[in-house]
Amino acid sequence: MEITKNIHFIEGRGFDSNMYLILNEKKEITLIDTGADEGRHYLIDYIKEIGCSPENLKNIVLTHVHIDHSGGLAYLVKKFKPVVHVCEIEAYAIEEGDLELTLASMFSGYFDGVHVDHCLKEHEIFSFGRHNFEVLVTPGHTKGSICLFDKKEKVLISGDTVFADGSFGRVDFPTGDAGQLQGSLDFLATLDVEILLPGHMRAVQKDGRKHIKAAARLATSMI
Ligand SMILES: [Zn+2]
Repeated sequence: MEITKNIHFIEGRGFDSNMYLILNEKKEITLIDTGADEGRHYLIDYIKEIGCSPENLKNIVLTHVHIDHSGGLAYLVKKFKPVVHVCEIEAYAIEEGDLELTLASMFSGYFDGVHVDHCLKEHEIFSFGRHNFEVLVTPGHTKGSICLFDKKEKVLISGDTVFADGSFGRVDFPTGDAGQLQGSLDFLATLDVEILLPGHMRAVQKDGRKHIKAAARLATSMI
């Protein structure tokens, strides 16, 4: 569904992360997270349903390297040749196909390494169509987890750092850190967010900041 102008939400099924499509005026596409390998099937169907061509997939941005967000990357890159963007802190895990950091060792047992074309840096602006997203490095779930924040449109794409309804990311995977996650949640809670687009479960169209504040508060007592 189109959750806000030119941003589409594809809810992850099963093990897949959510996926988000950002469209520009030429109907070119930036994809945020790929789901695990299965997600590509309904992703491609969805792209066609909204009258776009999968050949117009121009960019893929990963919020972090876990396989439920990155497992579809190798196929999509091979087929459509988009530019791949990953946070500079953990891009090497994608390039090397690191089984531990991607969590592939716990699930599929394999991960095809993919060349990262562009290493995202903190506070860099990623612009596509009408959206200008600032890259915010928000460690805790993984050391190189990022959120993308469109200040003008009040949209936060939050990966597995923070979810709706006061939920937040696990810190017990490799490079996870409870103290860092708390710091990231406290920081995100200061932002003026209306639309919260997390990596799992539902997306929020209104009062996103309330959900982030609830997560920051709950985390204080739980982690
Ligand atoms: Zn994750």
